Amino acid sequence: MAEEHTPLTVSLSQLKLACKKLELDSGIYKMLSLPKRSISVSIDIRMDNGTVGVFNGLRVQHWDARGPFKGGVRYYPNITLDEVTALAMLMTWKCAIADIPFGGAKGGVCVDSKKMSKHELERLTRRYVSLIFEYLGPQRDIPAPDMYTDAQTMAWIMDTYSQLKGFIIPESVTGKPVEVGGSWGRTEATGKGVVFCVKQAAENNGLKLKNAAVAIQGFGNVGYHAAEAAREAGAKVVAVSDSTGGIYSLDGLNIPDVMSHKEKTQSVQGYQGTKNITNEELLELPCDVLIPAAMENQITRKNADKIKAKMVAEGANGPTTPDADKILYEKEICLIPDILANSGGVTVSYFEWVQNLTREQWPLDLVNRKLEDKMSKAFNDVVAIVEKEESDMRTGALMLGVGRVANAIKTLGLWP
Ligand code: NAD
Repeated sequence: MAEEHTPLTVSLSQLKLACKKLELDSGIYKMLSLPKRSISVSIDIRMDNGTVGVFNGLRVQHWDARGPFKGGVRYYPNITLDEVTALAMLMTWKCAIADIPFGGAKGGVCVDSKKMSKHELERLTRRYVSLIFEYLGPQRDIPAPDMYTDAQTMAWIMDTYSQLKGFIIPESVTGKPVEVGGSWGRTEATGKGVVFCVKQAAENNGLKLKNAAVAIQGFGNVGYHAAEAAREAGAKVVAVSDSTGGIYSLDGLNIPDVMSHKEKTQSVQGYQGTKNITNEELLELPCDVLIPAAMENQITRKNADKIKAKMVAEGANGPTTPDADKILYEKEICLIPDILANSGGVTVSYFEWVQNLTREQWPLDLVNRKLEDKMSKAFNDVVAIVEKEESDMRTGALMLGVGRVANAIKTLGLWP
């Protein structure tokens, strides 16, 4: 069986492996293999040209034994319930690994947001929230940004939820703009956290980051901020890409300038002094660190053998298939799994929620210090399991996450 996995079959096989290694009883596997709630809604909106647009909206709430559901909302064509369920499950483990008091959820709307106007996106977001409103809330389920949603989307979600409740509730959403209760440092937290893990792993593996060549697939929130953090750490970002393709320069890229070019032309390609490459070529470049920060299923059985990086840090969720995992492990490529590497975003989301609940706003240096403390603890907890079990990092991280959730479930017991 290879490559025909769906995101959900991958997540379920990971859960099974963790349960087996942890010697958990089969009841726990059965409970954790199904989400607590899956919601599918039909979002009908008036388009700018007067016609009616109908879009499928999903929200999956996986497990909340450790705290309220938490997870991003992505706008992407062809999103399936299978994919959203798998991503919700990953969120449950991720929050447990980061040791923050949330369960896992994920949301999605099947829409090509690039073809929508800002007004249409606002109407879509507000209608989506109105349809799932009773299942959201600061003590129930707190959305955050993901692919093709951003701080503005979160402001609309917060405002709609607040209007329906009758008063402003900033803690109902995270990743919102600072002026309406967002946290300093949230926008860059995921990319920054990825590079923080790279630094820790480089130290453990004797890899020097100064002038190390870094290639990054995806130049959105995670990819851009990972590129900036890598540059700040002394590395050279030699390649980046977006949905239109990538660019490569052995001398390294000026990241803010590449972003200005993308903003002007809608693509990173054609940036001065670089060579245009495909997304596939980017993954196979000779480099020290590869950061897939776009989407699922990018490193597969077909290309894993051609990966030349010494280290792969998963900024995206699920970019590596299980077959590819095995190949990278055999090639002794250090892989930092998504549920650890990209947990910086949800960690600062947690800080945002705490700040909102206490009506405080922490300064950026405090947020960054707390983020490093949390990520360092999570990284070391995973490494301790990896050393004890002599496993790869994904297995170690899964054992930590699934084990913590299972413990919470056992302690709470079953009611009635
Ligand atoms: P984004 O929408 O800001 O950026 C996505 C990037 O991927 C864009 O540059 C886009 O052009 C590129 N892309 C889209 N389709 C592509 C394709 N077929 N090939 C190559 N590139 C493609 O999204 P984001 O928030 O940066 O999320 C990226 C990944 O990181 C997703 O897997 C998401 O689940 C994960 N993630 C995001 C956060 C967060 O805080 N935003 C947190 C944890 C994980």
